[in-house]
Amino acid sequence: MDISVVVPLFNEEESLPELFEWIKRVMNENHFSYEVIFVNDGSTDNSWKVIENLRQANPAEVKGIKFRRNYGKSPALYCGFDKAEGDVVVTMDADLQDSPDEIPSLYSMIMNDGYDLVSGYKQKRYDPLSKTLPTKLFNATARAVSGIKNLHDFNCGLKAYKRDVVKNIEVYGEMHRYIPYLAKNAGFKKIGEKVVQHQARKYGTTKFGLNRFVNGYLDLLSLWFLSKFGIKPMHMFGFLGSLMFIFGFLAVAAIGINKLYDMSHGLPYILVTDSPYFYLSLTLMIIGTQLFLAGFIGELIARNAPERNNYKIEKEL
Ligand code: UDP
Ligand code: MG
Repeated sequence: MDISVVVPLFNEEESLPELFEWIKRVMNENHFSYEVIFVNDGSTDNSWKVIENLRQANPAEVKGIKFRRNYGKSPALYCGFDKAEGDVVVTMDADLQDSPDEIPSLYSMIMNDGYDLVSGYKQKRYDPLSKTLPTKLFNATARAVSGIKNLHDFNCGLKAYKRDVVKNIEVYGEMHRYIPYLAKNAGFKKIGEKVVQHQARKYGTTKFGLNRFVNGYLDLLSLWFLSKFGIKPMHMFGFLGSLMFIFGFLAVAAIGINKLYDMSHGLPYILVTDSPYFYLSLTLMIIGTQLFLAGFIGELIARNAPERNNYKIEKEL
């Protein structure tokens, strides 16, 4: 099969028939063999009924997954990826904001130009300013942290992947915003971008509020930390902890020696506990020890994690 289209959806009953017809038209015009996997993320409207009807009319092309409750876009993508069989996997929002007309060129970038992942870039957006402005900031941060310098739109719902990519990454929580980063951490290097058409939402309303940006930043921090120190926590905590402890210890020693020196030379001296530096050094030593222990406990946890040796092997002879 050439293409799997994965569509996560939550209460999008009005858009689905139109979306499927559009995808179908594009696929037939370009003679692609394809499947469309609708992942119904616990919709409370008639979305699942609509998907069942589509399936009845197109048994070979339409597939569906129905969650018992609303888990979120990332879990929906995860299950869609698991089911996908196409050489190229395309993800697309259900709300008709992404255009299926982009599929053929995305497909060609993956198959002919050798990209592992191509992300859409909604250069001209039809969203309110309250969304586009924070998005710019968000993307600048994501670029800096992830080191993927050529992406302008990490969170674009329209993306295309080589099948290997989706089978080797694990999208969870709300990590769908950082799939390119996940792919990069899994060793897929050729990540590209294509400017895509974007429409205003035709039916329904957006499913994410402004808290997406706060959560987005926290997720980015976690990802950065995991990719840097996830399997070697001691390298971060142990280093910081040791540094602080040594610094605190030397400072305490200096304060003590200073007092002894003053005493033995008959100079006026103050009690060690009267010096504010004593308390600062003490704090340093305590925090240092705690950081060190945190690193150590992290190591113990990492050692017991079932995925500690879960490497993605590309080829074997
Ligand atoms: N979505 C989902 N589960 C959720 C929230 C959203 O599957 O819990 C789907 C939604 O139906 C749509 C896509 O994710 O197909 C993107 O959502 P939306 O259009 O609301 O996001 P925005 O365009 O505002 O970023
Ligand atoms: Mg949308």
